[in-house]
Amino acid sequence: MRNFIFRCPALGVNVQASAALRDCGEGRRYVGQRCAACGNLHLVNPDNGKLLAEDLASDAQNRPD
Ligand SMILES: [Zn+2]
Repeated sequence: MRNFIFRCPALGVNVQASAALRDCGEGRRYVGQRCAACGNLHLVNPDNGKLLAEDLASDAQNRPD
């Protein structure tokens, strides 16, 4: 079980969460977290506390064109 903090995109507050992680090798992994702040389900990367949508946005910015 790993504890981590992510920012709720709906309310903009930090939410503490915990997830049981399977070791699935390389690559990013996201866990569905029931948000304690807004009650919705968010996909979060426990390694950096980022939401899936945030990671995709930064990927788009960093992509060399
Ligand atoms: Zn939320």
